[in-house]
Amino acid sequence: MAFLTRQKNDLIYQVSDLLTPVIHGFSTRQGGVSEGPFSSLNLRLSGGDTPEHLRENYRRFCGALGADWRRTVLARQVHGDTVRTVGAADGAPLQSVPEPADALITGVPGLPLFVFSADCIVILLSDPESGCVGAVHAGWRGTAKQIVRKTAAELVRQYGAKPEHIRAAIGPGIGPCCFETDGDVPKAMEQSMGPSAAPYLRRRGEKWLVDLKGLNRRQLLEAGVPEEQIDVCPLCTACNPSLYWSHRKMGENRGVQAAMIQRTV
Ligand SMILES: [Zn+2]
Repeated sequence: MAFLTRQKNDLIYQVSDLLTPVIHGFSTRQGGVSEGPFSSLNLRLSGGDTPEHLRENYRRFCGALGADWRRTVLARQVHGDTVRTVGAADGAPLQSVPEPADALITGVPGLPLFVFSADCIVILLSDPESGCVGAVHAGWRGTAKQIVRKTAAELVRQYGAKPEHIRAAIGPGIGPCCFETDGDVPKAMEQSMGPSAAPYLRRRGEKWLVDLKGLNRRQLLEAGVPEEQIDVCPLCTACNPSLYWSHRKMGENRGVQAAMIQRTV
């Protein structure tokens, strides 16, 4: 299993061969039409970019992956742990879901589910046996709330997925090289996960370095997803500002990248 970089014209995105042939992808900054602080493949509806640029960016990204941008379902993220089940009526051109949700799941084909990040961790889930899919946004608060584990549990409960069939791709996000925090973050992880959080928390002077991808991977393992079915993108968004949006590097005036997955048949 591996993350692979794909290019269509000047659009650059990544896929996990673990999820193929399910339609999915992780966007980068490269290959859109937005300008200034949103240059160029910005997918953030609420940041001040023009509707024309956003529409064209979605059209290009979805088009490259074989999805329909007019049927997208976009998470309205609030660093919570709500998992929203979406259906055919939710597919619409560039509208966020009505209620806040940091994870989206569906068993309906042809609905591209979108979650967003600019350092936070994004995770795509697929159960090839039952056909259901999910998209998860997990910053440190969502990680402490174990949102990825809750999302996997909802796939099991609602669609009859089996943990041992679930495949997961943990996308680009801030790495332990750059995610330096105060003591509140490791404390929240330990309260949530107990001793199993410890290998992903490292002290550096008065601060801590936290491995969010590792913590989410651990939660998936604890949910029963086999190790060989969890792919982890090694790239850090804060280390690669020409390729990714990074809140730590750019502040609030910037775009976002996305992770997208849809049930294919
Ligand atoms: Zn880094």
